[in-house]
Amino acid sequence: AKQTGRNRFQFFTNSLQEHANNLMEMEQDLRLALEQNQLEIYYQPLVRAQSGRVTGVEALLRWHHPTQGMIPPDQFIPLAEDTGLIGPIGQWILETACRQVSQWHQQGLKFYLSVNISGRQRDLGLDAELLSSILERTELAAGQLVLEITEGMLLDNSDETIAWLQSFCDLGIHLAIDDFGTGYSSLSYLKRFPIDTLKIDREFIRELTLDNEDALLVEAIISMARSLKLRLIAEGVETAEQRSALFRLGCEYLQGYHFSRPLPADQLVNWIQAYQP
Ligand code: C2E
Ligand code: CA
Ligand code: CA
Ligand code: CA
Repeated sequence: AKQTGRNRFQFFTNSLQEHANNLMEMEQDLRLALEQNQLEIYYQPLVRAQSGRVTGVEALLRWHHPTQGMIPPDQFIPLAEDTGLIGPIGQWILETACRQVSQWHQQGLKFYLSVNISGRQRDLGLDAELLSSILERTELAAGQLVLEITEGMLLDNSDETIAWLQSFCDLGIHLAIDDFGTGYSSLSYLKRFPIDTLKIDREFIRELTLDNEDALLVEAIISMARSLKLRLIAEGVETAEQRSALFRLGCEYLQGYHFSRPLPADQLVNWIQAYQP
């Protein structure tokens, strides 16, 4: 038994070591990714439920790894956060996406830009000064930018976090809570933080037309959002049935594969030009 135990331990340390090596390799690769232009921003349209028109786009990061192909953000953003690389990467995302959307505005395509930010960026240089200089450089109006944050970021409920977010609102930037309903059940932050949009997590949308309980939950979220005067977006709308169910329930804005997957910038323009609401 002792022998097995030791072997098992041996196996365990080996795989831990392997895991650590992989992470270190990936960290090195991620450092290079930014310099070597391997990162790309995809854009997914957000549409008005009633008219079907595009009102915004969400910027979603993609990594074209030279040997491993496309690596989805879920697989490297946590690493970028742990290593602090989310600082420069996050800044690049903001700068690039603001410039792109500002260009689209000049071409007559009018929609706002939504960008995901990580709480780690607070200590890595993301502040009102940086944001206002990015907006100025890229000539994007502050009112056309939404920052998506998660409930987890508001958990500390600290004065620093509130002041940080408030300083963005003071510039005219809007804030949205992402993955709403999956995080922490205390809703008191909705009063404390300067938020104007909720994005209902796709978990609730997935079984919307099958599961009556999810429909009740979505209905409750919609009526809460309405009384708090918050804008509501449903994520992960994949079918026409989900779309009409959400419309019936009174959800104003929709996002999901039913409309479009996230697309590279040039393909998004093609999609919009061909799109019939
Ligand atoms: P998220 O912010 O919740 O983004 C929505 C995710 O749902 C995206 O995955 C999108 O491609 C996917 N999605 C959209 N519509 C549908 C649908 O109808 N069905 C399904 N099944 N999925 C749909 P993606 O692009 O892989 O991003 C995953 C997560 O990575 C994001 O979740 C966000 O948390 C993070 N992320 C992506 N880009 C950035 C970024 O620039 N900065 C930061 N900090 N995080 C990012
Ligand atoms: Ca998001
Ligand atoms: Ca989300
Ligand atoms: Ca998510």
